[in-house]
Amino acid sequence: DDAGVPGRVRVAVRLRPRNAEESVADADFADCVELQPEFDEVLTEFASQKRVYEVVAKPVVEGVLDGYNGTIMAYGQTGTGKTYTLGRLGEEDTANRGIMVRAMEDILAEVSPEIDSVLVSYLQLYMESLQDLLDPTNDNISIVEEPKSGDVSLPGATLVEIRDQQSFLELLRLGEAHRHAANTKLNTESSHSHALLMVHVKRTVKGREPAHSSDNGNSTSMARSLRPPLVRKGKLVVVDLAGSERIDKSGSDGHTREEAKSINLSLSALGKCINALAENSAHVPVRDSKLTRLLRDSFGETASTIMFGQRAMKVENMLKLKEEFDYKSLAR
Ligand code: ADP
Ligand code: MG
Repeated sequence: DDAGVPGRVRVAVRLRPRNAEESVADADFADCVELQPEFDEVLTEFASQKRVYEVVAKPVVEGVLDGYNGTIMAYGQTGTGKTYTLGRLGEEDTANRGIMVRAMEDILAEVSPEIDSVLVSYLQLYMESLQDLLDPTNDNISIVEEPKSGDVSLPGATLVEIRDQQSFLELLRLGEAHRHAANTKLNTESSHSHALLMVHVKRTVKGREPAHSSDNGNSTSMARSLRPPLVRKGKLVVVDLAGSERIDKSGSDGHTREEAKSINLSLSALGKCINALAENSAHVPVRDSKLTRLLRDSFGETASTIMFGQRAMKVENMLKLKEEFDYKSLAR
């Protein structure tokens, strides 16, 4: 199993089950997805939140605990289940908990509060401006890239130390409330921006026994404690991407022209980077957007992308899509 192998981008598909409207027996809805075996994982409408976490997120979280950076990205049209899958708190039923909450649970189980640290930032990227969801006054965070290591840092972004799940749930709630308030003020919707949760994990693991012990195994506990500890630093980035619906017909679906341009630019830049990584290309074009600059030190290590779709669609819309598709392929 190469699920956690650095440098490989895994792609899973998850289908949202039919909702009440789509389930009405005589309504004009039909299954609209044909699953191809080209994905690493296919999660149908019957897959549980737990299964989705274990299949697509757990290997990335394990990599982070081992000191790698990792990314989990949700891509799909608005209403297909991105936020449900990533962000559900599961207060009403823990079986519904999403990837963020499950990831933090696994991380907290592995760290020791006295010597390790878990620091969290929560950000929104809207029209190329990076906003702090933990501090609404901070709406223009700059991205700094270390020239040598390529590490990305965000001076000015709030970092909150997390010691227990309760404080993490509070942080997510606060971030969500700030996101809603900021978007109301900007007269936009959450699905028109990207949300990014960043979890920095620093663990100190006990040094290995030296291969040639000079003291014949008589080392005191003092000597043992002097052995240099191994510090493992990993960063987990969970990205709830802006809705990928076709938004070139500006204005018709509530996006402004600027929003449409910005979302198209960042999603296409991300797609190019993922393709370059998948093809082991030496050149990954991270400079093309703020989104990819933010992710440059993460998605090259371990990454999972979940593509979201809905199971059913109105038949007339399917026909429209088909016409559009046929028209385009003829025009080429
Ligand atoms: P997105 O973030 O992609 O716009 P949401 O996560 O908000 O979509 O999901 C849209 C609706 O579908 C919500 O009402 C959500 O509760 C529901 N939903 C999404 N995925 C599932 C699922 N796997 N099981 C049940 N309901 C789901
Ligand atoms: Mg959403």
